[in-house]
Amino acid sequence: MPTQETILQLIKVVGEAHAITNLEDMSPYTTEWRGLWTGKTPLVLRPASTDEVARIMAIASATGTRIVPQGGHTGLVGGGTPTDNGEEVVLSLSRLNRVREVDAEDLSMTVEAGCTLQSVQAIAEKAGLLFPLSLASEGSCQIGGNLASNAGGLNVLAYGNARDLCLGLEVVLADGRVWNGLRKLRKDNTGYDLKNLFIGSEGTLGVITAAVLKLFPRPKTVETALFAVPSATAAIALFNALKSASNSSLTACELLPDIGMEFTARHFGLRNPVATQAPWYVLAELSDATPGVLEKVFGTCDVSDAVIAQSEQQRVEIWDLREKLSESQKPEGGSIKHDISVPVSRIALFIEQASQAVTAAFPGARPVCFGHIGDGNLHFNVSQPVGADKQVFLDQWEAMNDVVFALVKKHSGSISAEHGIGRLKRHRMTEIKSTVELDLMRSMKAAFDPHGILNPGRVLP
Ligand SMILES: Cc1cc2nc3c(=O)[nH]c(=O)nc-3n(C[C@H](O)[C@H](O)[C@H](O)COP(=O)(O)OP(=O)(O)OC[C@H]3O[C@@H](n4cnc5c(N)ncnc54)[C@H](O)[C@@H]3O)c2cc1C
Repeated sequence: MPTQETILQLIKVVGEAHAITNLEDMSPYTTEWRGLWTGKTPLVLRPASTDEVARIMAIASATGTRIVPQGGHTGLVGGGTPTDNGEEVVLSLSRLNRVREVDAEDLSMTVEAGCTLQSVQAIAEKAGLLFPLSLASEGSCQIGGNLASNAGGLNVLAYGNARDLCLGLEVVLADGRVWNGLRKLRKDNTGYDLKNLFIGSEGTLGVITAAVLKLFPRPKTVETALFAVPSATAAIALFNALKSASNSSLTACELLPDIGMEFTARHFGLRNPVATQAPWYVLAELSDATPGVLEKVFGTCDVSDAVIAQSEQQRVEIWDLREKLSESQKPEGGSIKHDISVPVSRIALFIEQASQAVTAAFPGARPVCFGHIGDGNLHFNVSQPVGADKQVFLDQWEAMNDVVFALVKKHSGSISAEHGIGRLKRHRMTEIKSTVELDLMRSMKAAFDPHGILNPGRVLP
């Protein structure tokens, strides 16, 4: 627990107006949006500059104060929520929200960690360019959080994960030193790749304060379609057909289940534009494609019906169905999540086996499986049986994970495709990583954060 003297020292860095000590104002920083992760902290610090972050970390290092970096607090694995022992100080990056540069010539922009993803997309658009990272949480999540968790999202298929979209970083180290790696280079083979160590480290190795992001030309045409398909196998066949017919212009390919359509209709009043009801739907988006690709696959694949958006409004409505899927599970009661990936060729078999295994072991449980089929990334979420007790259902979280993860393993997949490990899956690391891999990771942690003050108890077992 930080002493009163340390707390006063820390408050002095940001000024009283930007330090939160009362319980009510702290709640967005101590409880995540679903209420699943909640904790306690003596102090939330809201610095406005890299220098202030550096001074905070220098004090933390000297006093052994534990620090939890926090962006938009939309992470789903408990990484950015303080624990309930009241010992961790929350370091919110949201006031570091300046755009330092937009460089249209080098197709890059330099932004501070607290810029929301949506604001970065909007600034790129204003410059006539594209920043392609896109997640349903983009209105709240921040670039620092996106990079710390190596976020994936809707356009990975064409543009890669957050890691692939970052050229350089500025990071405050655990001892308060600043590493300025804000380079714009597309090629730089000069020693160990520090940037890629910080990306995906979930706040355990350093505090990201700014980043150079890659920009792209904006596509001149975008076509969006929603296909109704009779099975997950048909969905994968459709994905493969779209990929080969579209000549690299397939920029998103999402799988949606019928039960998800039911949830989004019930809780958000969204209308499924496809007239024919089907067990599965595929949302596909093409950018700058040769005309006629969507019509061609409709004619040749096992598709029962489809709509092609005829206006931007219709495109937004189709995407809304996908983006509201996560939230629409909340009013249905407890939901046990599995953010997994398997090779694309195994998706259909995995869904069939996992659905059977889960419903056999947990009668009445309702799989709501959706995701980024182009990346083999499924959100195999399971909603509680209708009318069941929410807490009794959620108490089966680990037991259900065991069932699903056994199949992930069987299909050579990953138990965390894009959300990270955080606190949620930390105990699983010994099941999925070898001793050698864990030893290397622990050595890295010791080198970057020798006093273990940055996000302790996250990622590493
Ligand atoms: C509706 C919804 C949909 C989502 N969809 C997707 C999706 O499609 N793909 C996907 O990948 N994720 C998705 N997520 C998860 C989440 O939005 C992402 O992980 C996002 O990148 C987290 O950003 P954040 O700013 O909210 O980070 P936070 O939740 O604040 O933090 C996440 C982790 O990063 C650390 N951290 C935060 N900022 C910094 C920093 N500046 N320096 C160092 N460490 C830091 C935290 O300590 C924590 O461990 C979704 C979440 C929701 C709620």
